Amino acid sequence: MSESLETTAMEERQEQLRELTEFTENCKEKLNHILESLGWSLDYKQELMEQCPYDSHHRVPARSLEKHKASCSLRKMGYSAEEENTSKKTSPQKVLLSENTDTPNDIAGT
Ligand SMILES: [Zn+2]
Repeated sequence: MSESLETTAMEERQEQLRELTEFTENCKEKLNHILESLGWSLDYKQELMEQCPYDSHHRVPARSLEKHKASCSLRKMGYSAEEENTSKKTSPQKVLLSENTDTPNDIAGT
């Protein structure tokens, strides 16, 4: 019966691992909260964050700022992220259907 014992131990480990992951996630959240209240960011330590010229709420890593500016300016002109990512233009209906990624209510809300 050593086999069932092994699987039990394995499950126990996975359970512990899950709890540990949850715990670290909680810690990260708390840490982020503290850093946020101080006006700091964890990313700041890793790389310089630049403010998007099109939207003052956007903070993007300096190395991807050019890329972001390109997509952000397109979005400001009314293009969706999907339209910009797919080189061939899809029908407006299809774009509307897939517009539920990271910008909620951008089109559907109005
Ligand atoms: Zn932006």
